Amino acid sequence: MSFSFFKHLQCSDCATVYDPDKIQTFCPTCQAPLLAIYDIASTRAHVDRDEIRQRPRGMWRWREMLPVKNSENIVTLGEGDAPLLRVPRVGSDLGLTNLFVKDEGMNPTGSFKARGLAAAISKAKELNVEKVIIPTAGNAGGAMAAYAARAGLRAHIFMPKDTPIANVEESRIAGASVTLIDGLISEAAGMAGVKAREEGWFDVSTFKEPYRTEGKKVMGYELADFFDWHLPDVIIYPTGGGTGLVGMWKAFKELAELGWLETHKRPRMVAVQADGCAPVIKAFDAGAEFCDFWLGAQTIASGLRVPKSFADRLILQDIRESQGTAIAVSDEAILKAQSRLAAAEGIFAAPEGAATLAALEVLVEQGWVQADENIVLFNTGTGLKYIKA
Ligand SMILES: *Cc1c(COP(=O)(O)O)cnc(C)c1O
Ligand SMILES: [Zn+2]
Repeated sequence: MSFSFFKHLQCSDCATVYDPDKIQTFCPTCQAPLLAIYDIASTRAHVDRDEIRQRPRGMWRWREMLPVKNSENIVTLGEGDAPLLRVPRVGSDLGLTNLFVKDEGMNPTGSFKARGLAAAISKAKELNVEKVIIPTAGNAGGAMAAYAARAGLRAHIFMPKDTPIANVEESRIAGASVTLIDGLISEAAGMAGVKAREEGWFDVSTFKEPYRTEGKKVMGYELADFFDWHLPDVIIYPTGGGTGLVGMWKAFKELAELGWLETHKRPRMVAVQADGCAPVIKAFDAGAEFCDFWLGAQTIASGLRVPKSFADRLILQDIRESQGTAIAVSDEAILKAQSRLAAAEGIFAAPEGAATLAALEVLVEQGWVQADENIVLFNTGTGLKYIKA
């Protein structure tokens, strides 16, 4: 018996439907991501939103709206339900009364990549995949290695040779083969793609695999739960491949269709990138539909060193639909924000997470946020993984 109301996959561009019981990647016609579609009417009929609150904590308490059909295939290390913390000191410094940090650094492997890889590896196991491959800017590799080990799958990881050492070591100790390359995630993606095609590895690249974003969308469900089935006014999110941003926006639509939200109001989504790699900000400001490939990407926020996301169109579409915006910040501002958050609130954020505070400072100056709005910063990983020897 399946507890999931997952129906099928659908191209995010041409809406072609794809068989969910086969291994799928992306729409070859459109070169666009596939998104998971659920039977909303059945979920609504069978699931009580408030009953979900009584379940054991973690990502899988939302299992009816996740793609894994048989509970035996769930591969978990305890991901999900990372705390949403009020940060009153930092807030009052900025003149804000309702500022929060969603501290995703509390997830297994120290980043929210655990959510996406828990979903992807569980589904891969369900579809009898035996070996998985990933190009990564860092944390996705460590998470994939851990979940692949847990599932008994072989893992191969391609990452830039200047990826934080913690990401290399956590991958190796979990038994993954690691190839360090002289280039960025985009080159890693090319090499992983070739190996996938030639040797039959399943490629778990961001958005070329349909289920990582399903794991990350649960962050959106958790916000609705926390705010008593309302949503915050503003979400500030460090955007690399965009799985979390696109996933949460999808989650908000699903929650609305389920009739689980108390109001129609949706958050304004703010994408943050580093000014040394800001393809989304450039495209947003230009009113473009797609991003240009960013040449010479460079930033200490390794998770944001993504010169062009495979889901660039969706990211831009979702920011605009939400009446949001896109902000680039310098590495210097990121480091300052990182110290500020740790010293004032005890949260040692990853540079990517700290970037959201740096962006908020700009938004406050611009008058883009109001003093009493509920504002959520996403700290997507722990700062501990970036410490240099
Ligand atoms: C991967 C990563 C990001 C970017 O996440 P996307 O969902 O791919 O945009 C941000 N922060 C950290 C710490 C990451 O590892
Ligand atoms: Zn298509």
